[in-house]
Amino acid sequence: MALIVQKYGGTSVGNPERIKNVAKRVAKFHAQGHQVVVVVSAMSGETNKLIALAKEISASPDPRELDQICSTGEQVTIGLLAMALKEIGVPARSYTGGQVKVLTDSTFTKARILSIDESNMRRDLDAGKVVVVAGFQGVDADGNITTLGRGGSDTSGVALAAALKADECQIYTDVDGVYTTDPRVVPEARKLDTITFEEMLEMASLGSKVLQIRSVEFAGKYKVKLRVLSSFQDEGEGTLITVEEDKNMEQPIISGIAFNRDEAKLTMLGVPDTPGIAYQILGAIADANVDVDMIIQNVGHDGTTDFSFTVNRGDFAKAQGILEGVKAKLGAREITGDNKICKVSAVGVGMRSHPGVASKMFKALADEGINIQMISTSEIKISVVLDEKYLELAVRVLHRAFGLDQAV
Ligand code: ASP
Ligand code: MG
Repeated sequence: MALIVQKYGGTSVGNPERIKNVAKRVAKFHAQGHQVVVVVSAMSGETNKLIALAKEISASPDPRELDQICSTGEQVTIGLLAMALKEIGVPARSYTGGQVKVLTDSTFTKARILSIDESNMRRDLDAGKVVVVAGFQGVDADGNITTLGRGGSDTSGVALAAALKADECQIYTDVDGVYTTDPRVVPEARKLDTITFEEMLEMASLGSKVLQIRSVEFAGKYKVKLRVLSSFQDEGEGTLITVEEDKNMEQPIISGIAFNRDEAKLTMLGVPDTPGIAYQILGAIADANVDVDMIIQNVGHDGTTDFSFTVNRGDFAKAQGILEGVKAKLGAREITGDNKICKVSAVGVGMRSHPGVASKMFKALADEGINIQMISTSEIKISVVLDEKYLELAVRVLHRAFGLDQAV
């Protein structure tokens, strides 16, 4: 007998029929003698609807009131699912975040979980009930309803699994696992049986949207055994997210190719090469709440240097405006920008112990005549910035170069 936390996303509970299917799946685990805690999202589209509704009243809704509104989506799902379970003879009880209680700080719309009281859940589980909990929400010390940020029910699921020391946290979604790359770009992409937390974090931050990043961080920190599975298939083991030591020895050096289309690049040319330059440029950008990704400063010559960085494409115009101000202050020569770039990355813990991964990647791109504009590396990732027109080609070429289309 195991204690399993199952999280079902919005599409998995998107209509009454699907909710009944979720109930059947939960019933199956319950019948096998497992203790099951189910965490659910709002039915698909509901949270967007609630936010849109709030915006009809106020262009910038009060965050506390917005959380009051947004948390209702999940509250509907828990009631429906608990009812669906009872309809098929499974004892069940639903809880809002506050009823559990999931205690958070008071940062409305992006609250952080501080602690979880497991006593109610334990009592019900011990009495043979399935516990159904609203994801995405909590309550602060003053009793205000809070939410955890978009996609936050993944984090709820993992946090509950950590608090209950569950044997496994299963995230049911509309894909059957984590893939070597996006199958819409490379049809030969394969589902991974395992991926490490670190790799998953890189894949998630690079645009693979299977899990909310915070939930992966949480799972890594609290050593929660995390599995991604399809809620639309009855068979299949999904993808298990592991700690590195558990990883199969046969695992390839590169686990996946991630990419991000929404990038833009800015360069300040002829910046005086003196201490404090990076701070003056990036400090101003950070003050405007713009996230910076890659940063490159060239070797100086004649007392000046060039400074480039990338930002999210949506922040391009804003960042450009800020740089104009900084340029005047520093006496830099020129600002150039390009918002038609993309980032493609090879990710794999295997590169720690295998030299030559970068050169293999650069050769594969060179063979296709793809020009690399910027490069950045970490211990388990190599990223290149390319003209966006090369995105699909680069992903396909790298997927093949690292043998990812072949079964291991
Ligand atoms: N319903 C929330 C959202 O749409 C939370 C979630 O689905 O994870 O962001
Ligand atoms: Mg989601």
